[in-house]
Amino acid sequence: MRRRRRSAQRDSLVAIMDRDRRLISAQELHTNLRAAGAEISLATVYRHLLSLSEKGEIHTVHGRDGEALYRRCGDRLHHHLRCHGCGRTEEITAQVEQDAMLSAAADAGYDDVQFTIELAGRCAVCRSCGDQGHRDA
Ligand SMILES: [Zn+2]
Ligand SMILES: [Zn+2]
Repeated sequence: MRRRRRSAQRDSLVAIMDRDRRLISAQELHTNLRAAGAEISLATVYRHLLSLSEKGEIHTVHGRDGEALYRRCGDRLHHHLRCHGCGRTEEITAQVEQDAMLSAAADAGYDDVQFTIELAGRCAVCRSCGDQGHRDA
């Protein structure tokens, strides 16, 4: 059954992201799935990632070079703070701005609003281990 196999692939994709809640690229997910024996194309991985992010089940963060990276996050409303030295990502909340954004959306007649903001900086570990962190990471 084509449809069943497709959703099984999506489930194992989500399982990989659940196991390791760091940022992961489509390419890396594809490699992991293939290593686990799944016959899945990179295009299908992208399709699953797109539909999962449209449903809000995963978040997309853009790396320094603009590459899309994906992450399974917690359920609460949050924003992403990414270290451009080592690539770690924190979930942060900024209540004031969040309320302003949500009420602006409500004023425009929308509900069930989701948004994330991407912030990038240098984490404490990278700050302590060198002047500029790992530029190439
Ligand atoms: Zn997130
Ligand atoms: Zn760092």
